[in-house]
Amino acid sequence: MKIAFIGLGNMGGGMAANLVKAGHAVNAFDLSDDALSAAKANGCETFTDAAEACAGVDAVVTMLPNGAIVKSVYEGSVIGKAPEGAVLLDCSTIDVATAKDVIAKAEGAGYDMVDAPVSGGIAAANGGTLTFMVGGTDKAFNRAEEVLQAMGKAVIHAGDAGAGQTAKICNNMLLAITMIGTAEAMTMAKKLGLDPQKFYEISSQSSGYNWSLNAYTPLPGVGVESPADKDYQGGFATGLMLKDLRLAMEAADTADASTPLGRHAKELYEAFAEDNGGLDFSAIIKTL
Ligand code: NAD
Repeated sequence: MKIAFIGLGNMGGGMAANLVKAGHAVNAFDLSDDALSAAKANGCETFTDAAEACAGVDAVVTMLPNGAIVKSVYEGSVIGKAPEGAVLLDCSTIDVATAKDVIAKAEGAGYDMVDAPVSGGIAAANGGTLTFMVGGTDKAFNRAEEVLQAMGKAVIHAGDAGAGQTAKICNNMLLAITMIGTAEAMTMAKKLGLDPQKFYEISSQSSGYNWSLNAYTPLPGVGVESPADKDYQGGFATGLMLKDLRLAMEAADTADASTPLGRHAKELYEAFAEDNGGLDFSAIIKTL
């Protein structure tokens, strides 16, 4: 396939490279010259205009920072510029309302489009092992699947337009809550004189079992190897977790969903991110 890829940053750079490796021809566009140079080195053809990159393609993939940018890129450079038969895939993490709105506009112009946000960070984007949660019609999903398979290890059809974003923010709200809960329990066990490694051994095999404890232990030297063992460098940045929690609370308000723990998690990450936005999100344990 010929695929336009817009937004070749930390995530998009590796994803576009994996499309090339899978045998697709990739037209790359980004506002950053550095991102474009890296894309060229990875085998993409580079463009200085997004609409030109979309001409004559079979699919368009976007991996952009936020909903406002996604909306302006689709309205200004993709819808009406890519051939009508092209399938459109937005893999960015954005608010549910904008995702639905952009897909409705694309469908109105005759395109098939999905929202397909990812789970997994930069390493998974480079390694082609992302998980995609996809919202859209059956037809749009079936068309998008081949493109997504080349960049991920799992592609799941979550439901209608916007369902991918809904799955993503609900999952990450749960992750924030379990991380804070795990950090609280580990710190309290330590302060009460229990060896944290013993606590890990017991709780990871008891009803306290959860991903933040078992697969991402937030205390250095305890449990599995994780960003905690690298001074909280790498991993999933606190700033990105805060972005997802803000999107989650916005969505909760529109759906009148009661999320007291999600809201409190957002407040704790908001305070922590002021000086620590670049640290892995498990570093929240430092505040306890
Ligand atoms: P990034 O800032 O590294 O990359 C975004 C890229 O978009 C940049 O290269 C920027 O120049 C480009 N860009 C911005 N506006 C543009 C425009 N109008 N036209 C073309 N290019 C434009 O961000 P990232 O870490 O790659 O994240 C991208 C998306 O993936 C975000 O929505 C983020 O929430 C999501 N995400 C990131 C991670 C992660 O670990 N980094 C994990 C999961 C999801």
